[in-house]
Amino acid sequence: MQESMENPSIPFKRGKVKDVYDLGHDQLLFIFTDRVSAYDVVLPSTIPRKGEVLCKLAAFWFDYLKVPHHMLRVEDTNRMVVRRLKMIPVEAVVRGYLYGSLYERLKKGQISLPVEPVLASRLPEPYFDPTTKSDVKDEPVSLEQIEEEGWLDAGQLGEVRRRTVEIYRRMSERAESAGFILADLKLEFGFDKQENIVLADSIGPDEFRLWPKSEYAPGKTQESYDKQVIRDWLGKVGYKNTLDEARKEGRPTPRPPDLPSELVQETSRRYIIAYEKLTGLKL
Ligand code: ADP
Repeated sequence: MQESMENPSIPFKRGKVKDVYDLGHDQLLFIFTDRVSAYDVVLPSTIPRKGEVLCKLAAFWFDYLKVPHHMLRVEDTNRMVVRRLKMIPVEAVVRGYLYGSLYERLKKGQISLPVEPVLASRLPEPYFDPTTKSDVKDEPVSLEQIEEEGWLDAGQLGEVRRRTVEIYRRMSERAESAGFILADLKLEFGFDKQENIVLADSIGPDEFRLWPKSEYAPGKTQESYDKQVIRDWLGKVGYKNTLDEARKEGRPTPRPPDLPSELVQETSRRYIIAYEKLTGLKL
């Protein structure tokens, strides 16, 4: 076993930010890398210590939440061994604030919500907003579609929704006491051998938006302690538009630009601060 840890040889999946290896015995090894993705595109730059932050923060949340989860143990600084599950092909997204694609969809009249279309305003209650799981681009999916596709039956879907919202509420409380707003969250679940629904994947700044409470104000882009700085920069330099157009026309993903070194350093700093504030631990 130790040998396969040091030299894991059976790749399960090279994800956008994690390298996943099959250890056999229904176990997977997650190696959290320093890679960073935005708008579902892996960027050419890496963020120092990001892998370590992601691994340790995920471990913190799994322990903290005390819900059924897939983590078995953490090894080294950026490796986690998990139970292999049959994954549910849906990203369980929950939003507490009107932001990102939810805001875009509301403005375009694609959805209706009982709120004014004010960017970053708080929603009256957490909004369960699942998407498909795709390597290209996750798309919103309705609850009806999830059942029709046979991904989950009504009872299982209700359970995933209930757990997602409950986890969001508990994580929000923790974030709040650390001086942050947890604007939204993406979780993944899978089935174990007994068909129990188990929390899987990871929980970290790649799965949520975290805003400093002190700078929060609706009606504008929020100052954030996650990769929103990178998303905003990609918007400013025009890459987001180029990407959207390429996708609309079915062209291949345009090559993303290298990030300036100050942006890389700032992002790294934000990941570390987020970890230390949320957990109360030093990295
Ligand atoms: P992506 O960014 O495409 O989600 P990841 O780096 O997160 O890529 O890749 C991890 C993959 O492993 C995802 O497809 C995720 O659904 C899957 N996964 C996460 N936890 C488990 C698990 N316990 N068992 C099996 N697959 C898992």
